[in-house]
Amino acid sequence: MDMQVSFLDRLFESGLLIETGVDGLYGRSGQFEDVIAAFERLIDRIGGADGAEAIRFPPGMNRAYFEKSGYMKSFPQLAGTVHSFCGNDHDHLSLLQCMEEGKDWTKEQKATDIALTPAACYPLYPTVAKRGPISQNGGLYDLQSYCFRHEPSKDPARQQLFRMREYVCMGTEAHVTTFRQTWMDRGVEMMRSIGLDVEIDVANDPFFGRAGRLLANNQRDQNLKFELLIPVTSQANKTACMSFNYHQDAFGQKWGLTLENGSVAHTACVGFGLERIALALFAKHGLDVAIWPEAVRKTLWG
Ligand code: AMP
Ligand code: ZN
Repeated sequence: MDMQVSFLDRLFESGLLIETGVDGLYGRSGQFEDVIAAFERLIDRIGGADGAEAIRFPPGMNRAYFEKSGYMKSFPQLAGTVHSFCGNDHDHLSLLQCMEEGKDWTKEQKATDIALTPAACYPLYPTVAKRGPISQNGGLYDLQSYCFRHEPSKDPARQQLFRMREYVCMGTEAHVTTFRQTWMDRGVEMMRSIGLDVEIDVANDPFFGRAGRLLANNQRDQNLKFELLIPVTSQANKTACMSFNYHQDAFGQKWGLTLENGSVAHTACVGFGLERIALALFAKHGLDVAIWPEAVRKTLWG
């Protein structure tokens, strides 16, 4: 059997993940959540002294911001929007009849003002832009959100609703590229401290279509995205468990993010795929946390 399917089945059998009938949409057990909580505390220990401003957005964002972000240009295949019934009594009757007859009742649903958050940092840029210029010393933000991506898969590491913990840095080019490098070094160190084999490689986002291939090549050529890879279901095809993105001044330009001296801010973000890191730990050390190596348990739970 395929390694991804067999790992997913083992996760279901152990109760760590709970089946919902939809690929990539799972419940999590208390034990699974406890691993994520412990790893987040490790993140806090490593990054806490940097003094990032913590902000938590819900997993849905203002659709107007989502539209302005350009997500539909680059990743229409992954996007999710929230639709609701907005009709009257008569519309309600036909909706129920449609459901009764097993027809597509969703066609009459109308788009709401909410789109599902595709990456934890998306709601941040317009929020910071509204505050006015960023300190010349830069801005640093600590985010965590469930994110939605429409990519159903039997690979337990490719989910449709998953959590991303992010640090986002805004400032000068030198400032944000140093921030990114610091987290690449810290990321490697952190994963080693919990017994995971890591590798860092240049990467690209899954830009849609023919035009997307150009964008992906450009991103790679300019080293704008790196990923920290860990074997989860396969040694050959490792899983990206962290990403390190340098946006140059693209988001600064788009959202009007400026520094106190009037220059356009550069931005970078580092993202931890929390479910993927938990899954990498379960794949490496076994599904029973009680028998994980003592050093790993100590790093995570003290
Ligand atoms: P990205 O914005 O694609 O670089 O995503 C940031 C991080 O989120 C990645 O490095 C992964 O660890 C995680 N991630 C991305 N897509 C998924 C997914 N479909 N399921 C679980 N984790 C994901
Ligand atoms: Zn980000």
